[in-house]
Amino acid sequence: MASITLNHLVKKYGDGFPAVNDVSIDIADGEFLILVGPSGCGKSTLLRMIVGLEDITSGDLLINGQRVNEKEPRERNLSMVFQNYALYPHLTVYENIAFPLRLSKGKFSDEEIDRKVRHAASTLDLDEHLERKPANLSGGQRQRVAMGRAIVRDADAFLFDEPLSNLDAKLRGQMRTEIAQLQRRMGITSVYVTHDQTEAMTLGDRVAVLKKGILQQIASPRELYEQPANLFVAGFIGSPSMNFLPAHVRGDVFATPLGDFPVPDQARGKLPADGRIVLLGLRPEHFEDAKFVDEAKVSRGTTFDAEFTHTEWMGNEQYGYINYEQDPEVKAKLDELAQDLDGDEMHPQIVVELDATSRIRGGAKGRIWVDTRRMHVFDPETGENLT
Ligand code: ATP
Repeated sequence: MASITLNHLVKKYGDGFPAVNDVSIDIADGEFLILVGPSGCGKSTLLRMIVGLEDITSGDLLINGQRVNEKEPRERNLSMVFQNYALYPHLTVYENIAFPLRLSKGKFSDEEIDRKVRHAASTLDLDEHLERKPANLSGGQRQRVAMGRAIVRDADAFLFDEPLSNLDAKLRGQMRTEIAQLQRRMGITSVYVTHDQTEAMTLGDRVAVLKKGILQQIASPRELYEQPANLFVAGFIGSPSMNFLPAHVRGDVFATPLGDFPVPDQARGKLPADGRIVLLGLRPEHFEDAKFVDEAKVSRGTTFDAEFTHTEWMGNEQYGYINYEQDPEVKAKLDELAQDLDGDEMHPQIVVELDATSRIRGGAKGRIWVDTRRMHVFDPETGENLT
């Protein structure tokens, strides 16, 4: 097994903007690290640099403390599981798994190969399918064969490139659990690329969030969710996304289009000057129909009236949508900043999570409570989380 160290890694294709821009990460032996980010953020390029399929423009890549920048992929002893499985259709499951061992000619006897293949097959519950061809397997079974090929080589680490993106939603959920269990059981260092935040949050010990080749934050899933470093991470992690509500700093309160919200303790002393605009970060679950909030809790947050455009009932909860009046001056300022930050245009709307039995409906006013203690405050100019 292996630790993998990325030290100021840079990848440039031609003279354009670097696809990977000064990324440093220490991946511990046995750790499950997720690389996540939107399309084009450089996550696949970074994985391909680790495995040796892509040259490193600058920086160092170390495996178990040894610099491997110039080593051929096969000398790095890492195993890659691809999105399309890369199985040989004319070979049986047994031969597909045995393939990497047969490639290293003479290194393994037939008995050794047989033992390793059967061991991998039993780890992956494929014992009964060894004589089948890939065409006669389900998507999940094909995925397991691809992993069998990785296991059989006794590789130092597994590298996964969006391995589940071709599967339907249900199977993706099952395979996610299988990969998580297998990785824990084998304790093998793994780096997993995905753009799916559910995979990122459920699989990884730590998650590295990338945007335009730059590492935004690396942390445990819980820390990313609860303490996002900036607007990008805050908006990327969580579904429905965090609400960003523009507000003016006015002494001890934020003046928002929904009313005045108190400045939470964690933001005191870190705010820009009075009159400046900030973005308040409030997750949908930080809100509730005020009728469902007991006395003691009500006083720890703020209550306001809002008109709902519509609600979505999901069975176990519901979402309510509130449009607010956007001050034209604030809008102009935010549009200008959104361009600088390459963000989306901000819609004057927030989404709140309501109890499933709430009677609040679209077209009507409702009294809403918000837990302002859990509020994040972002500097719209830098995107930085000030709390
Ligand atoms: P996706 O999820 O869409 O696969 P990604 O986050 O994995 O995206 P990369 O494939 O690593 O992103 O690409 C990062 C950037 O590098 C993109 O802007 C892409 O266009 C560019 N890029 C990738 N491969 C090449 C290449 N061979 N030549 C030139 N530019 C490339």
